[in-house]
Amino acid sequence: MVKCSYCDKPAVYINKVSNIAYCRQHFIEYFEHKARKTIRKYNMIKPGDLILIGVSGGKDSMALLHFLLKLTKKIPRLELTAVLVDEGIRGYREKTVPNLVNYAQKHGVKYIIAGFREYIGASLDEIVEKSFAKNLPYMPCSYCGVFRRYVLNKVAREISATVIATAHNMDDVVQTYLMNLVTNSIDRVVSLGPVRSSNEEFLIKRIKPFYEIPEKETALYALLNGLVQPEFNQCPYVKYNVRFTIRKLVNELEDKYPGSKYGLLGSLLELIRIHSKVKLVDKKFMKCAICGNPSSHLVCRACLFRAQLGLLREEEKSMLEDVLREHPEISRMLYKS
Ligand SMILES: [Zn+2]
Ligand SMILES: [Zn+2]
Repeated sequence: MVKCSYCDKPAVYINKVSNIAYCRQHFIEYFEHKARKTIRKYNMIKPGDLILIGVSGGKDSMALLHFLLKLTKKIPRLELTAVLVDEGIRGYREKTVPNLVNYAQKHGVKYIIAGFREYIGASLDEIVEKSFAKNLPYMPCSYCGVFRRYVLNKVAREISATVIATAHNMDDVVQTYLMNLVTNSIDRVVSLGPVRSSNEEFLIKRIKPFYEIPEKETALYALLNGLVQPEFNQCPYVKYNVRFTIRKLVNELEDKYPGSKYGLLGSLLELIRIHSKVKLVDKKFMKCAICGNPSSHLVCRACLFRAQLGLLREEEKSMLEDVLREHPEISRMLYKS
């Protein structure tokens, strides 16, 4: 039996990079210390913030909810609301929703369940069907990612949140980094920082408190705190996603050469730092003319998708027609598929 490096109790985790072993209690301390350090280092949260936490009910987001709830006892006037975006994937979300609901009720956390049906006009299953029927070239995960962000922004505006926190861990960030390198999307690479903030009032600050914590550790933190059941629950659309392959690749690399993920994350942070010095113009955000969410174009990606899928409401359709009359270049984005 391996013992904890700090006490006599049995170890539940060995950090392969530092070779330090942790018992349950010392692991939880180590984990929370690391996440608090990330929050301080990047100035993520201040007293008086209203934080909206995107929670799926899975291990990472339940860990984030639990950790931030503990933090509210240390930072004055910090308020939390959890939002679960229900994509409407048959047989998938039903398994994780109770994790959030039970936890929130037990600990008195405010929570909102926001469905794709209500906010987008169709569930992800229906969107995928429509998209195949219309021969649109997008994969389920493209819709899901864009629409999840859309719903999160909408809810954040509805409750006047000052911060949106998501549970992206180091593995997620490193995978997205490599995916964007593979497609030569450097613009996206340099926007993968731990915080996105802006002086524009409509752009709500976004933070990733688990940015420097590997997935193995967020999963263990969730299990040790009894936040999720130790069962495997995977999105049925995962096979369409290039992330699946990249994830396997990065894990193989880390197995053979422990510390590879930290190395990749370090190179990403360095790229972001260099880019922030050489770029001449700041990436401009504007308000989408249809939904009012932040967007890098006149009409946001979610609204373009909704238009292609025939999901715009009547008044939104006429708003889009007004925009197209003045900016015909938008129709190229709309129909180029
Ligand atoms: Zn110990
Ligand atoms: Zn929009």
